Amino acid sequence: MKRSIYIEFLIGYIIFAIVSVVMIQTLGVYLVNKRITKNEAHYLYTGVSAVASDFYHYIYNQRGNEEGFSEYLESAKAYLNCELFVINSSEDKTVVASTSTTTFLMSIPDFDQEYFGNQYYKVGNLYGTLDDGSLIVYYPVVHNYNVAYYCIGYTDAGYVKSIVASVISYIYLICGVLYGISFIILLIFHFRIYIPLKRVTAVTKEYAKGNYEYVSDRKLPKGNEMETLSTSVRFMGEKFKSMEDDEKKFIANVSHDFRSPLTSIHGYIEAMRDGTIPPENYDKYFGIVITEADRLKKLTENLLVLNTSGGNKKLDLREFDLNEVLRNTLLSFEVQCEKKNILLDVIYGQKTYVVCADKLKIQQVLYNLVDNAIKFSHNDSTITIKTYSKGEKIFTSIKDTGIGISKESINKIWNRFYKSDTSRGKDKTGTGLGLSIVKEIITNHGENINCISTEGVGSEFIFSLARGKTDDSHDPIVEAMISEN
Ligand code: ADP
Repeated sequence: MKRSIYIEFLIGYIIFAIVSVVMIQTLGVYLVNKRITKNEAHYLYTGVSAVASDFYHYIYNQRGNEEGFSEYLESAKAYLNCELFVINSSEDKTVVASTSTTTFLMSIPDFDQEYFGNQYYKVGNLYGTLDDGSLIVYYPVVHNYNVAYYCIGYTDAGYVKSIVASVISYIYLICGVLYGISFIILLIFHFRIYIPLKRVTAVTKEYAKGNYEYVSDRKLPKGNEMETLSTSVRFMGEKFKSMEDDEKKFIANVSHDFRSPLTSIHGYIEAMRDGTIPPENYDKYFGIVITEADRLKKLTENLLVLNTSGGNKKLDLREFDLNEVLRNTLLSFEVQCEKKNILLDVIYGQKTYVVCADKLKIQQVLYNLVDNAIKFSHNDSTITIKTYSKGEKIFTSIKDTGIGISKESINKIWNRFYKSDTSRGKDKTGTGLGLSIVKEIITNHGENINCISTEGVGSEFIFSLARGKTDDSHDPIVEAMISEN
């Protein structure tokens, strides 16, 4: 079964809480206990050593008796907050002074310094005389290089434990606050990330099923990165939808454009075979059949070009002279121009313009643009073709004084299969693919193409290309003119 991130977070949160409690209860208690015991022992040791030195002074300088010291011990007990007693070093190790009546005059014959090991304190019961877990500190009283007495201080077992418990309770309190905060963070995550993500996922699942029109019945997230995500997903859906529509339109257009010439070719040939068209009219109808076949050929060629220039197809970028490519391309239009008596007025800003581009593709761009300019120009007119540079760009402009493009059509001319109604009279063989090929090639180069047109006046197509590294042309006059405009 797939586990969601949310469940994993929740499990992680619970495991984290359990592990923390176990850690505090074991390692935490152990470390705090160790630290507090050491601190307390040190504090007691300082007090007991002072008591031992006072005891020495009392016995050996003031010649006081041992029992009388109990009174002094009582006041030290109040100050140090612990029980105190003194043992002599005789055979039976008798308690000679004490703050507690239970230990007074008790003897601890086994008492030995070794009991404490190499420490000055120990947690234990001092040979069964004290409660288990008492913190015991000792300090020897040395006279004439011999240990004569031991001063001993101790606190009962509950004392250190109560301090440890209060420290641990503070740690739990802090942990509780932290858990509370992290739970709030978990809730924020739940409402701000998990729920919106679930909704966006539901939308993508619908898209995956092909339901691109699906709109979530719940509100999609707003005001954070999730909104950007949901907007992108929605945009993706719209894109898929339009791609699907485009694909349908494309297939419909292709089939239509293939079917109509084929139908007429089929119709005329059939009519010739069954004698509906008499042999003396064959010439006329052969002409029509050839035109239709040409249209089919052009359509196939254009589809192939469109297929090879699409999206991420690699460009063969090289440096070449744009003027030379333009000159060669224009040669193929001689017959067409002669037929319509059109003059091609070519203005090269400089003798050569080295650009960095895919030569064959740019040739195709020039061909399509000039072909259109001629097709949509009136007889006896002039088409002006210019190359010029500005900064790091080389521009080519193809301007005709033909039928022009209406405002409604100007944004559609780049679409595949688009042909404006007005153009249909002038352009019988057009496939409506030429400009979409041009646009795709120029966009693939990372460059721009624009069309300025007025219906009934004419059109100008201008596109840019990157100047080649080896280009040394510079048009100060033309550039100045352009920047003035
Ligand atoms: P086609 O291959 O049929 O010429 P295009 O994609 O090249 O298709 O052009 C699409 C449409 O744009 C044409 O049908 C025409 O309506 C319009 N168009 C293109 N170039 C010109 C032009 N120079 N003058 C007027 N209309 C033009």
